[in-house]
Amino acid sequence: MTDLLYASPLTLDPDWTPDTLAVQAGRPARVPGAPVNPAITMSSTYVHDASLEYGRDGNAGWGALEAALGALDGGRAVTFASGLAATTAIADLVPLGGTVVLSSVTYYGVRNVFERLAAAGRLRVRMVPPDDTAVILEAADEAAMVWVESIANPLMVVADVPAIAAGARERGALTVVDSTFATPLRQRPLDLGADIAMHSATKLIGGHSDLLLGAAVCRDEAHARHLATQRHDHGAIPGGLEAFLALRGLRTLAVRLDRAEASAAELARRLGSHRHVSRVNYPGLPGDSQHERAARVLPFGSGSMVSFEVAGTVEQTDAFLAGLRLLTHATSLGGVETLIERRARYAGDAAIAGPTLCRLSVGIENVEDLWTDLDRALQAACG
Ligand SMILES: *Cc1c(COP(=O)(O)O)cnc(C)c1O
Repeated sequence: MTDLLYASPLTLDPDWTPDTLAVQAGRPARVPGAPVNPAITMSSTYVHDASLEYGRDGNAGWGALEAALGALDGGRAVTFASGLAATTAIADLVPLGGTVVLSSVTYYGVRNVFERLAAAGRLRVRMVPPDDTAVILEAADEAAMVWVESIANPLMVVADVPAIAAGARERGALTVVDSTFATPLRQRPLDLGADIAMHSATKLIGGHSDLLLGAAVCRDEAHARHLATQRHDHGAIPGGLEAFLALRGLRTLAVRLDRAEASAAELARRLGSHRHVSRVNYPGLPGDSQHERAARVLPFGSGSMVSFEVAGTVEQTDAFLAGLRLLTHATSLGGVETLIERRARYAGDAAIAGPTLCRLSVGIENVEDLWTDLDRALQAACG
């Protein structure tokens, strides 16, 4: 029933780089007449006398996507209906009453999952600063799991994943890395020593703001099996169409990310000297306190997410957002279109985001068009 389907008959060359794997992994075997893409399987049930019996057990489309994500992150991938469905399943790896060390700068939905489980007495949560490895590891003594998000929303904090994972392992705790902002092309958490890489494929992997889907990529086959059982029992399964679209999105991740990242770095640089901007967060900006760590942990690039504080009032910031014509005022991130929002509009982020902090998800539009829109709206609102 919980057999994992790894439908990647196509042989992968161990020398292929991640950019190439993103294009090739998870395709059908190359036999004459075979399609180059996996089919979309829309079926709630299967003919008896095989391990696959019912739609919650498995789907060939999930298998193809899991083969691709597993190849990219170097582990066993299990896909879910959303990133939070993956999070909820991962939380179930914590034994009853066990402790989870959680960074204070974490996607608020993930914080909610753990805080609600703590309030119900299912587990304990110890909140730690996102970038103080010594404090994180001190808290990891007798913990079951360390959950770090890197690059972390919304302040773009980079955690020292290699040091945290090594220290947690010594203490017998699992390390989970929410790698959504970095994607498998900028950070491979399992290679850095973590046990599980979590992705909201809703974001950059899907890449077109047209689906929700989550994934957990596990070092340990037993963890993957546990998560697949959770998926079966909780029913938080990806849709067949969503799995197909996420894999199709993954095929172009490398070019989308290269373009968006180059624009993000340029916009971060220009925003840094804009007179209506008081602070910019982007990993690796020269002079930034995170510069050394970002260069070491994220050697291939810092991604497409930027946040910045408008030097003005909340009203001016809202006027700036309302005055944008190209950028869309909306939540979420990682699509081809540029999105922006003021994070403190969410109670869950108001504690960590300054009142005028805007989170910018840079898309693949022309960077000069993006800059013209940002600059014009900032001048108009803050004058
Ligand atoms: C969006 C997001 C999630 C949650 O994923 P969903 O697919 O929306 O459930 C978790 N972590 C991060 C960093 C995210 O951006």
